[in-house]
Amino acid sequence: MADYYDIIVAGGSISGLLAAREAAATGLSVVVLEEDTEIGTPEHCGGLVSINGIKNLGIMPSSNAIENNSIKYAKIFSPSKSFELNAEKQKVVVLDRRTFDKQIAFQAQKIGAEIRTKCSMHSISKRNNTDNSNSDNSYYIIKTSEGLLTCNYFIDARGIGSLIKHNRQGLLQSAQYEVYASWIDRNTIEISFDRERYPGFFAWIIPTGSGKGKVGVAGRSINAANSLKSYMEGKGEKYSVVRKVYAPIWIMGPLEHFVIDRSMVIGDAAGQTKPTTAGGIYTCGIGGILAGKALTKSIEKNDRNLMYYYERKWFSIFKSEFDKMLILRKVLERLDNRAIDKILSTISQGEIDDISKTGDFDFHSTALSRILHSTISLKIAKTIFDNEIRRLINF
Ligand SMILES: Cc1cc2nc3c(=O)[nH]c(=O)nc-3n(C[C@H](O)[C@H](O)[C@H](O)COP(=O)(O)OP(=O)(O)OC[C@H]3O[C@@H](n4cnc5c(N)ncnc54)[C@H](O)[C@@H]3O)c2cc1C
Repeated sequence: MADYYDIIVAGGSISGLLAAREAAATGLSVVVLEEDTEIGTPEHCGGLVSINGIKNLGIMPSSNAIENNSIKYAKIFSPSKSFELNAEKQKVVVLDRRTFDKQIAFQAQKIGAEIRTKCSMHSISKRNNTDNSNSDNSYYIIKTSEGLLTCNYFIDARGIGSLIKHNRQGLLQSAQYEVYASWIDRNTIEISFDRERYPGFFAWIIPTGSGKGKVGVAGRSINAANSLKSYMEGKGEKYSVVRKVYAPIWIMGPLEHFVIDRSMVIGDAAGQTKPTTAGGIYTCGIGGILAGKALTKSIEKNDRNLMYYYERKWFSIFKSEFDKMLILRKVLERLDNRAIDKILSTISQGEIDDISKTGDFDFHSTALSRILHSTISLKIAKTIFDNEIRRLINF
């Protein structure tokens, strides 16, 4: 006889663990299946997140889950210009996801969820309890590497691997290395735009300490390993790579629907990462929490329609921001290196100071739109970006 659960969550990363935590809190039987041998490992994340965002996920990272809490500046480079924002107001930290995800796993298990590592979900099929039963009497059979499991509800939190089965268009290849190098400043995040080298994205440095950090690149149709090598060589001084990660990132925005029948899709698997930066700790984490809450409410009240609260709420928080980010992405993808240089050289110190003071890390499209608005002349905007830039400005 297959083990039975009220809810099976496939994927034991941030969104799956948070959904399990919320669902288990009401006494439902919940299991999280994680195909890797350890929660949080292998880490494929820069770990950059705002403290405000993390607070909204209902967890304060333990001191050993924070790799760096002294980020003060963000330096933005174009091929031949740069400017620096003061990032202190944004209160961003760098998380060690290996430790942080385990912290959430501990919360989830303490409240009643079961977590099974090295247990991979292979397939899902739906069965009815009786021959002529309606769909409310149906249940799922989940085939896993540990045999069959059954459940009434299923949550897909399997990350990008699940999403790209439907659509590969929104994928960019990334490489991110853990690097030791004297050119990594503990206080400064670096972002470098270069249309030729990283089309559609950028290179980044996320410091985890003095002289060490996560250095990465992503871009459309690039060889990420080669691009990253030449980015680091461009720094002109020696470095050592102590860990290499290659992972796709998703930049096309969310799926249209997150609830299908008795199942929900959350996090990266639902496309809940920001189209500008592919950051997803906050937006995917909120997806997990909303899904867990909505599902338990729906089970408690025996009303399947309540599952849709998750979808509605996530879109009510993020839709407008994600729509703006998608337009920004379209605009940025059309800028050549000369235009990028021009934007960086035109932005005024007053504008930089203002953005430093008022910018919001989790909802950054307004700051980005302001930079474009103030630096791209109306003439360029009209000829190159027609509708897109006007829609952004009028948002
Ligand atoms: C290089 C890189 C850097 C990033 N940097 C940042 C950053 O600085 N800040 C930020 O906010 N976000 C960042 N992100 C994005 C962030 O990591 C993700 O958005 C976030 O981890 C999504 O969480 P998730 O739970 O939805 O999915 P994931 O973290 O992708 O987790 C999916 C889980 O499902 C498991 N799984 C997959 N298939 C199965 C299966 N069949 N059975 C069981 N388990 C399965 C996987 O092993 C994995 O543990 C970065 C991403 C990348 C790739």
